[in-house]
Amino acid sequence: MSNLESAQRYFDVAADHMNLSANMRKMLLTPEREVKVQVAIERDNGEIATYIGYRIQHDNHRGAFKGGLRFHPEVDGDEVQALATLMTWKTAVVDIPFGGAKGGIKVNPKELSSGELERLTRKFIDQIHDILGPDKDIPAPDVGTDAQIMAWIYKQYSKFHGDCPGVVTGKPLELHGSVGREEATGRGVSIITNETLHRLHKHVKGTTVALQGFGNVGSFTAKFLHESGAKILGVSDAFGGIWNKDGLDIPALLAYTNQNGGVRGFPGGQAITNVELLTSEVDVLIPAALGGVFTREIAEHVRAKIIVEAANGPTDPDADEIFERREILVVPDILTNAGGVTVSYFEWVQNSQHFQWDLDRVRSELQKIMLASFDRIWTTATEKKIPMRTAAYIVGIGRVGRATQISGIS
Ligand code: NAD
Repeated sequence: MSNLESAQRYFDVAADHMNLSANMRKMLLTPEREVKVQVAIERDNGEIATYIGYRIQHDNHRGAFKGGLRFHPEVDGDEVQALATLMTWKTAVVDIPFGGAKGGIKVNPKELSSGELERLTRKFIDQIHDILGPDKDIPAPDVGTDAQIMAWIYKQYSKFHGDCPGVVTGKPLELHGSVGREEATGRGVSIITNETLHRLHKHVKGTTVALQGFGNVGSFTAKFLHESGAKILGVSDAFGGIWNKDGLDIPALLAYTNQNGGVRGFPGGQAITNVELLTSEVDVLIPAALGGVFTREIAEHVRAKIIVEAANGPTDPDADEIFERREILVVPDILTNAGGVTVSYFEWVQNSQHFQWDLDRVRSELQKIMLASFDRIWTTATEKKIPMRTAAYIVGIGRVGRATQISGIS
């Protein structure tokens, strides 16, 4: 099933509970604007290379469009649209004043030199700067993009519109970024994992965890969960996995990954495959890589009793039904990984105020928002006796739907 079909099916399940009319469903699901552009650059060897870039603005009834940019070889229009839709529900679930968008370029950034990546990014912004802006549409990092790329976006946009740090978030600290932004998604995932355990009357200390993906989100999630006393038994990335039944030494693994570019070969554990990791016997399983990881086949073999979705769209709807039948609790992506967009919101607020917050303030405001959002979803799920994902969609769609109606459509 494609990402877009999955996003639509999850929407429909919630919309059925809400008795939404067919007209309202169509309006809420249809993106406001879809842009697809050619991004041609000169490679270092003098050859011309042409890429396709996307920006899909799904909904802005609650505020400016907001969503990351992904540089990955599998980026396509369907995936970007699905992720843009998720952003709309996510910003509504954490109740921050943004809508949803997503963008990306179909490219493997690892095959480009730094100079080529800069030219690609700046050319992309040349193509789409008119539809961006601090009160229109604010990109951020996602898979394959980072603070350096956000800095190029800020500077390229400012060439057309005057100095404007608030046009993009996830910027470097030296260029109006926010402290705590880099760690934010992983910190949010650890807050949500801790709270889930707390509500289930379990202790985080000694809880066993397996984590797929050890990039920005996975590594910070591991760091914070390890600091709270959880035992991370397994971690994997695109090149392989590592397992230690007594718990991995996470600070040592972080240092090893920084030096070696991945977890493979880490001396403090033994090698495992991604499938072994996903079906390992742990209390909590955290997908923090790409979407579509839990298929129907894998879902039958998952042994964890709690799945905390750090990645966007890791679970196929068919797999989700299997998890429900097997009484595996799934804490959904639109709640779990919303820490990133929440601290992006703080960065945008600081840029408008021309005032820098300190790390304590960023972390405590993040904690407040994540816990309040968790409580709303948990309570809705418990009262209505529905899965947390459906509850999160009901809360998100409800907020967007009401804003849409109040705004009026003419
Ligand atoms: P990243 O590029 O920093 O890291 C991705 C990680 O996944 C890497 O360790 C990579 O090796 C691993 N990976 C890729 N393919 C894999 C495979 N087939 N099997 C196992 N591991 C694989 O990306 P990120 O920013 O950490 O994002 C991870 C996920 O979290 C994505 O789904 C993204 O959309 C989502 N997300 C990110 C943010 C953010 O702030 N960065 C916010 C919300 C959601």
